Amino acid sequence: MQKIKYGRQDVSEADINAVISVLRSDWLTQGPVGKLFEKSVAAYCGAEFAVATNSATSALHVACLALGVGKGDIVWTSANTFVASSNCALYCGASVDFVDIDPDTYNLSIECLTDKLARAEKLGKLPKVVIPVHLNGQSCDMAEISALSEKYGFKIIEDASHAIGGKYKTERVGNGRYSDITVFSFHPVKIITTGEGGMAVTKSENLARRLTLFRSHGITSETNEMEPRPLEEIWNYQQIELGFNYRMTDIQAALGLNQMERLDEFVERRHTIAQRYNEELKNLPIQTPMQKIDIYSAYHLYPIRISREKTNISQKQTYHLLNENGIQANLHYIPVYRQPYYERLGFKEGYCPEAERYHQDAISIPMYASLSEDDQTTVISVLHDILG
Ligand SMILES: *Cc1c(COP(=O)(O)O)cnc(C)c1O
Repeated sequence: MQKIKYGRQDVSEADINAVISVLRSDWLTQGPVGKLFEKSVAAYCGAEFAVATNSATSALHVACLALGVGKGDIVWTSANTFVASSNCALYCGASVDFVDIDPDTYNLSIECLTDKLARAEKLGKLPKVVIPVHLNGQSCDMAEISALSEKYGFKIIEDASHAIGGKYKTERVGNGRYSDITVFSFHPVKIITTGEGGMAVTKSENLARRLTLFRSHGITSETNEMEPRPLEEIWNYQQIELGFNYRMTDIQAALGLNQMERLDEFVERRHTIAQRYNEELKNLPIQTPMQKIDIYSAYHLYPIRISREKTNISQKQTYHLLNENGIQANLHYIPVYRQPYYERLGFKEGYCPEAERYHQDAISIPMYASLSEDDQTTVISVLHDILG
């Protein structure tokens, strides 16, 4: 039996044809389709500039570099996120720290952030950059985080890997009103896909230039950025920083560009699926995700939390029983600092209690645009059998 997974891509014939036409063209990479994809995403979310990369992980890395993160700097992110949100700071030689989550939205808690900043200021250990993560596709409260950034002088990178197509208040995530850079992921389980891929969007021309520089070896061919050399020497490009090869191919960009046409449809379908889960799971001993009224989630994930007061069935038992019934659920996430690598850096169990509680009772159940009604019926009835 084919398992129903927690997330998967939706690739159409038109998507496939778009990829094929790039394969027949002159440009497999660094060509026109890559630029069109960047323009499409920038226009969609209302950002001025977009820089496509080969993953969101590399977009987060170049975003940190563009903001000047280096040795001796401190970067903060949410305790409940994928490891890439904090690894990007370590790549730059900076140190990381974690903010506990809000018990209702599971996003970084504004209260914890406020307290932690006040303490850090006294110790002279303020972060240079804070990376809020829009968990499950629901934006963080960006106005409040932005107000704190003005008070304490840190920069903001939104990790919107889950959130393309979502809105904060009336505006699309990525428009840059409340942050310096926003990063999207196009991994197949995310909202739209390029196979592997990511993008950093910004309204700052200077940051866009630096993102582009670090994406491609630190090389520039802009005369005004190059060091002057004698007139008779040929210097069509110069390496002026230590960058990487993080470029996205046009093959990938063709898939992404074509997927953009269905982005709104994908997110609407995710909302329909969420509404049905909300309705049909409401009598079970679980907590369904809370949706803030002024935020339009992209609904990347639909986590349920098994209520320990109301049932003896544990999260782990539920997870395994789902699996035995053909449903491959997942857990998002183990608090980053509880990963063995991070524990070796000195982080200890108990550091962010709310994130640890989430880790102990949450399960992400199937949620993706192409989830069929029949498959959703199966998920709902299996959950009723296990927990009802
Ligand atoms: C998926 C994800 C990433 C990394 O995305 P890639 O494109 O796979 O590198 C980063 N942060 C979060 C929150 C994610 O979910």
